[in-house]
Amino acid sequence: MKAAVFYGVKDVRMEEIEVPKISPFEVLVRIRVALTCGTDRKMYLRGHPLFKPPFVFGHEFAGDIVKVGNEVKDFKEGMRVVAANSAPCNRCFYCKIGKPSICDNLTLRLSGAFAEYVEIPSPIVEQNLLPIPSYVSYKEAALVEPLACVVHGIEESGIKLGDTVVVNGAGPIGLMYIQLAKLKGAKVIATDIKEERLRVAQKLGADKLIDASLVDDQVEAVRNLTEKKRGADVAIEAVGLPEVWEKTIKMARKGGIVNLFGGCASGTKITIDTKLLHYSELTLKGIFHHTPQYVKRALNLISQGSIDANSLITDEFPLSDFPHVLSMMINHQGIKIAVIP
Ligand SMILES: [Zn+2]
Ligand SMILES: [Zn+2]
Repeated sequence: MKAAVFYGVKDVRMEEIEVPKISPFEVLVRIRVALTCGTDRKMYLRGHPLFKPPFVFGHEFAGDIVKVGNEVKDFKEGMRVVAANSAPCNRCFYCKIGKPSICDNLTLRLSGAFAEYVEIPSPIVEQNLLPIPSYVSYKEAALVEPLACVVHGIEESGIKLGDTVVVNGAGPIGLMYIQLAKLKGAKVIATDIKEERLRVAQKLGADKLIDASLVDDQVEAVRNLTEKKRGADVAIEAVGLPEVWEKTIKMARKGGIVNLFGGCASGTKITIDTKLLHYSELTLKGIFHHTPQYVKRALNLISQGSIDANSLITDEFPLSDFPHVLSMMINHQGIKIAVIP
């Protein structure tokens, strides 16, 4: 089969490789759509500490089951499915206290999507492989995994009806945050440094836009848009830069919640004003990954038509054009790109 294989930093090659073999507990999926993701971009530019190359690049996809292991019960050949990229163990301390996103033994796979076929490991078959309703396209369904992370982040942010929420970063993740914050009944302020992304933010429901490249003080610009300049009830970071983490903390009102979602390069640090944290009673939250519950809810939101998937997926190319897709991804062109094998 054709596949884009990751060999190391800035080294992804189009190759002809074997179709994956499956165990009796696995299924084989013929990929119909794969999507690019910020994680892919970071992996291309920096590598990944947890995964040893070579492996097939990409992790967001939807497709058809073409082969089912003898021991698999709930799935059949021909079913349209979407899979998340992980499954928790359900046995460790964190799983037992209801925090499977930080499971000690997470079966995590950030690979397999930019190819014609992918095998689904058995823990994912059991917990995070979902049939796609007939009226949902493969493209929309492939959004399940990143959306599940955002559903997780929104549920941890405690947004109340009528709250003011600032979302810093209008990339794919920020744009999903904007849509879900609107569903939660918030007024949304969106900030970004790219005008085209802010336009999409507005289309998806953002009430106020701030082009951070045009203002002297991004924090003040946000606070000026909140009642009595007191700051946002909930401040969300969806960029993944330490300086934006620091700004996001300063945008929250007293007693507010700060959701630090964007993963920064490892080894980076931020500085927090201790007086601000203490006397303002801020709550700072790191949010990582998703859980089977949020994966299911993400597919529900897509199936209900509550998420505008088509505004997020701006381009489409065949797998054979993957080198071009890579260059677009590196240059932040488009939002999410669909790759069709
Ligand atoms: Zn992703
Ligand atoms: Zn666990």
